[in-house]
Amino acid sequence: MDPSPVSRRSARIRAVTPYRLLDQYYSHSEYTRRRDDPTIIDFAFGNPHEMPGSAYIAALREVLTPRDKDWFAYKQYLPRAQEAAAAGLRRLLDVPFEPEDVLLTTGGFSAISVAMKSVADPGDEVIYSLPPWFMYEGLAIEAGLVPVKVRIDPETFDLDVDAIAAAITPRTRIVIVNTPNNPTGRIYPPATLKRLASVLDEASGRNGRRIYLISDEPYNRIVFDGTRFHSPVEFYPYTLLAYSYGKTHLAPGQRIGYIALPPSMPGRETMWQAIKDMTFTVGWAFPNAVMQYALPRLEQFSIDIGHLQRKRDLLVAALRDMGYRVQPPEGTFYLWVPSPIPDDLAFTAQLAKQDIFVLPGDMFEVPGFFRISLTANDDMIERSLAGFAAAIERSAVASPAG
Ligand code: PMP
Repeated sequence: MDPSPVSRRSARIRAVTPYRLLDQYYSHSEYTRRRDDPTIIDFAFGNPHEMPGSAYIAALREVLTPRDKDWFAYKQYLPRAQEAAAAGLRRLLDVPFEPEDVLLTTGGFSAISVAMKSVADPGDEVIYSLPPWFMYEGLAIEAGLVPVKVRIDPETFDLDVDAIAAAITPRTRIVIVNTPNNPTGRIYPPATLKRLASVLDEASGRNGRRIYLISDEPYNRIVFDGTRFHSPVEFYPYTLLAYSYGKTHLAPGQRIGYIALPPSMPGRETMWQAIKDMTFTVGWAFPNAVMQYALPRLEQFSIDIGHLQRKRDLLVAALRDMGYRVQPPEGTFYLWVPSPIPDDLAFTAQLAKQDIFVLPGDMFEVPGFFRISLTANDDMIERSLAGFAAAIERSAVASPAG
């Protein structure tokens, strides 16, 4: 008799490295013990470290009082929420999205999961780049898919389109692109996205089966220096755009996001229906009624990107002065920093001794780096500088050859 009380799929999900390490860090570590200690410097996750903005709270408060008997009834896609989201997308991208192109979900997690299950069958392969967002592998396994990992260019942090092309097989059904990228902060330029589109077109023709692109872009409004963001959806019509408001609002517990289909997608009607069916069937992944009522106002709301950029500038300049080889991110909440010593686990443990909590590259399957989340508040950033300086000095003493 099989003694395990859980499914083989559950056991596989537990074994997924990024997820297991993430869960361990969050739930069973020194960080867990000290998370609420006000003396620590918390650069670990993209969580808020300041009180939420009053405009955000007002938008929610306004829709809490029922206006009719169906206010809290089952809600699928609320047209006024779809309209607001489509208008937001049209402001961002040069694609004429209509309200019905936006299929709302409970956030980015479910947008990606529903998108995967709507286009791919168990056994199909899904390609993504390392360092990845932690959850791609787990979500792929949960959907019965086979994760295939390639590396980004370690110097430029750009997508390695040749590596993606080489990883394509007849079983490839999905390529995930995350831009602006967590953790590198890179925004992939149009030239890269065009090259990728032609690789996917060519390979789809060769396979006799379309390869879909899932563009995971919850940070598409968190861009610095006035950079214009370009989405893969502008270059490849077989793209499912996955978005979450959790980053723009810095309120990831208030779950709402969407999958947007470009009007130019061939077979769009069939895809639309499949996504709606899947959203229903995976366990009602439609966002709750209150979040949908609030969306027209919430769509206008953003955290202060200028403030985030000032935190980036301060920290990047200070770290460089100390000798860290850090590149300024073009967007997102994150700095992806080469560890001064090859062992990023040892280095991040050293930082923790200075009360600084960051995530090791090991957790992203790319050792030798660590990630800083800029959602830390100004006071934490100010207080972190002495600790970062002490840690790099200590590492130079420990390994004088560099
Ligand atoms: N994709 C990426 C790249 C992310 O960083 C995150 C959140 N950390 C998500 C998807 C999921 O977003 P949400 O929690 O808002 O669903």
